[in-house]
Amino acid sequence: MAYVPDWLRETVETRANGLCEYCQSAKLIITYMTVDHIRPEAQGGLTTEDNLCLCCIGCNSFKRDFTTGIDPELGVEIPLYNPRSQNWDDHFKWSEDSSVILPRTTTGEVTIQRLRMNRPDIIRSRQLWVSAGWHPPKR
Ligand SMILES: [Zn+2]
Repeated sequence: MAYVPDWLRETVETRANGLCEYCQSAKLIITYMTVDHIRPEAQGGLTTEDNLCLCCIGCNSFKRDFTTGIDPELGVEIPLYNPRSQNWDDHFKWSEDSSVILPRTTTGEVTIQRLRMNRPDIIRSRQLWVSAGWHPPKR
């Protein structure tokens, strides 16, 4: 992974309000955040502000070098959610108890699947965060 200079990492983190730009987990409670290349370096993605986002280690470990997911109905590849050019609220919403991320669009659906944004461990964590008053995040 390319070296991301401290100033650029800080810019990305501040812009994201310390939240994973995919699953919205807060840096305060997820201890390890990384900086994701939205377009992977392996595909020519640059280490620039407009190609970076703050990402928890869980989402990052499943995103790897993927840029698409499979539409479950049509079986075709469609692009993953892009936090730089798209709005989280247009593609995702919280379940009533805020423990599960629900898709509003096919983009949301394939991104939830590809990044496993509703991993059983993170659902349990969200339930605890809700009871502590830390979740869902205020943006
Ligand atoms: Zn995440």
